[in-house]
Amino acid sequence: MKLGFEEEQKKYNSGSQNARALTETWAAASLFCPACGHSKLSKFENNRPAADLYCTSCGEEFELKSQKRKFGKKVVDGAYESLVSRLVSANNPNFVFLNYDPVELCVSNLFIVPKHFFIPEIIEKRKPLASTARRAGWIGCNILLNNIPDSGRIFIVKNRAPISRESVVTKWKRTSFLKNQSAQSRGWLLEVMKCVEKVGEPKFKLKDVYAFEENLSAIYPNNKNVKAKIRQQLQYLRDSGYINFLERGMYELNSGSS
Ligand SMILES: [Zn+2]
Repeated sequence: MKLGFEEEQKKYNSGSQNARALTETWAAASLFCPACGHSKLSKFENNRPAADLYCTSCGEEFELKSQKRKFGKKVVDGAYESLVSRLVSANNPNFVFLNYDPVELCVSNLFIVPKHFFIPEIIEKRKPLASTARRAGWIGCNILLNNIPDSGRIFIVKNRAPISRESVVTKWKRTSFLKNQSAQSRGWLLEVMKCVEKVGEPKFKLKDVYAFEENLSAIYPNNKNVKAKIRQQLQYLRDSGYINFLERGMYELNSGSS
């Protein structure tokens, strides 16, 4: 995968409008589809509101977010209401987070968050714009990247090194079972997946996950039986092939794990 932008493009100055054109053109020329491995993504016609790129083979749609700085804990996004309503719609796109080097004009990091990792809990409502602002009362939002499990951040380029197509697609498929769940039940699953990641071991015990009971109670104060809920999620993760059951109270992450 070529990480540099096209020569003829580099002649333009580097305003943010231009950065968008540069990165979009690069993505359409160089990115493969992380969902099915198809060799290329296609650009949508301009002014399509929801997405920028799509795969002609599997139909997945992608929205590109590019910036010079590395992506931190949160990413500023557009209007709160429109993003939240898109989360529940069928054409909710996957997000591509692209970080580029403005001097060398090349991609330095790129990861994808599949759409099934988008739940209302990762969208933070911002304060309405002040009455003195041109768009007074307008409410924007932040995407809370730090609330997304590591398994939902699929790198295609990491520190200027491209990741193989095969391992990207494998990683995508490992969590595609989440698509079958409603946004509501995905919330619990994703929280339990994050707990398993925090344990940080390929093999773990049920009680390692129970250790997060208090944290989960704080997130879901109405649930009075958090341990039962944890067991139920682990069972679902096992049935989906995300983890394996070893023996009583013992699990392991399925191979292909990062
Ligand atoms: Zn595809």
